[in-house]
Amino acid sequence: MNPSLSLRDRLDAVRGRVAAAVARSGRAPDAVTLIGVVKTLPATVVAEVVGLGLTDLGENRVQEAEAHQLGVARQAVRWHMIGHLQRNKAGKALALFDLVHGVDDAEVAGALQRRAESVGRVLPVLIEVNTSAEASKFGVAPEGLVPLAERVAALPHLALRGLMTVGAPVTHAGDARPGFVRLRELRDALSRRLGTALPELSMGMSGDYEVAIEEGATLVRVGSAIFGERPAPAR
Ligand SMILES: *Cc1c(COP(=O)(O)O)cnc(C)c1O
Repeated sequence: MNPSLSLRDRLDAVRGRVAAAVARSGRAPDAVTLIGVVKTLPATVVAEVVGLGLTDLGENRVQEAEAHQLGVARQAVRWHMIGHLQRNKAGKALALFDLVHGVDDAEVAGALQRRAESVGRVLPVLIEVNTSAEASKFGVAPEGLVPLAERVAALPHLALRGLMTVGAPVTHAGDARPGFVRLRELRDALSRRLGTALPELSMGMSGDYEVAIEEGATLVRVGSAIFGERPAPAR
């Protein structure tokens, strides 16, 4: 990535590549939502990218999301929780996010259900599936998906909208394809089994979002390709 490019240039480039991947897969122009992953960024950059018209932002920490949201009109952005959610953060997550991507066990789902019920809201959620057993410690194993999904689907204050996966980091974008195909097939089978549409597939990051779009992603989570490399996390 060329560091002399402005945020606007990089965002435009990613939008162009998203649009091209959508077109070559024969999908509708609005079939894919670009989520800008703003974790670890200064609040000024978050405000700047919202000013450039990006409507969907992703966070992986509740506390940082709180800080980022201070500088941005609540109605201007759909906020996505893409990280691992701890049970004791369910109440805050409910207040901060429009879609929670990373539900991967019944306890977190139950905590979200109780909080959502107490404020009379229905929270849209995705179940995170671990499609690369060796690479990720989060996400339900494919074998555990059906029982978890049946439990989530039975919770009246959660709306199960689809599946999410992170996938192993790959050197060649094409290497990510089997994991994306797997997620789509799991979604299709689950949808038949539950008898409900599960329209959302959250998959694809900076290195492989175009492949994810070709395989049916509806939500791509892109950080460094838009914002530049993040500094290594402290700790
Ligand atoms: C950080 C992160 C991303 C974005 O990663 P990039 O490679 O910077 O695009 C996407 N999804 C999740 C869950 C993340 O934690």
